[in-house]
Amino acid sequence: MSVLPANEESIADAAERLRRGGLVAFPTETVYGLGADAGNGRAVAALYAAKGRPRFNPLIVHVADAAAAARYAAFTETANRLAEAFWPGGLTLVLPKAAAGGIAELTTAGLDTVALRAPDHPVARALLAAADVPVAAPSANRSGHVSPTTAAHVAEDLGDRVDVILDGGPTAIGIESTVVDASGVVPTLLRPGAVPRAEIEAVLGCALAERTTAATPTSPGQLASHYAPRAALRLNALSVEPGEALLAFGPDVPTGACRTINLSAKRDLGEAAANLFGALRALDATGVPAIAVMPIPDRGLGEAINDRLRRGAAPR
Ligand code: AMP
Ligand code: MG
Repeated sequence: MSVLPANEESIADAAERLRRGGLVAFPTETVYGLGADAGNGRAVAALYAAKGRPRFNPLIVHVADAAAAARYAAFTETANRLAEAFWPGGLTLVLPKAAAGGIAELTTAGLDTVALRAPDHPVARALLAAADVPVAAPSANRSGHVSPTTAAHVAEDLGDRVDVILDGGPTAIGIESTVVDASGVVPTLLRPGAVPRAEIEAVLGCALAERTTAATPTSPGQLASHYAPRAALRLNALSVEPGEALLAFGPDVPTGACRTINLSAKRDLGEAAANLFGALRALDATGVPAIAVMPIPDRGLGEAINDRLRRGAAPR
């Protein structure tokens, strides 16, 4: 790991690392972000591993500007107005994901929507323009620690877990972006943050809706904003029952499933995490009533994988 003062050379180097699947911490006007290529599921899995996050939450995808954002999402009329008014800046927009945009399933936790933001920081903007890939970037701290507002915070917390930390000085705002869901008819405030609600409502000319209780994670499996398969999940399966599809892990796969997808034949949890949501979707799309899921070790990324699977298996 190296902490580099942000300049033309270090930004070009960091952009190249992002394109190759590396992890780069960089300043934005809100907090320092830990970036990975949002189109590269393995890179995003490595990002989760570096943060030690026990759960897969959908990540915010950072782009240089609205033109880049348009590659990855369908802009509603409301979204255009909000982007026009607040980008670059501390507003994140949740929009319908463009099918051909190439955002990895792990980035959006399997959702059909994607959260996008064009940050207002010269280093972030230069990095995003140079990388020319969408950059998933949660705050650059270990899970459970506070968000970093200096490069030194990032180094203390993530040290050897990142390839490069770009030092652009202390961040100006220090709190996370406001998240607005503009994917539907009624724009909804998902998370208060850097841009005040009143400013957004002034642009819209109407009040933002509140997130409904259905979207609040109260009990496992109830998180409406997360993708849940229609099929029942049967966890820790060592054999296959008639009519089941199989989500396999490792080299020794039981036979008898109408359809099998192996998350990682070589027991690589990063590969398994990158494949998880796409595999669930594909098996679900076959219309099977149930998916048998082989045991997955609870270490490293296995914890987040098992959390997701338990939610999918919880009674609905
Ligand atoms: P963080 O990654 O810590 O900056 O947090 C990202 C925030 O954006 C979380 O509150 C996520 O739940 C929210 N978010 C990201 N993508 C989506 C999405 N597609 N739909 C709803 N909320 C999202
Ligand atoms: Mg955070």
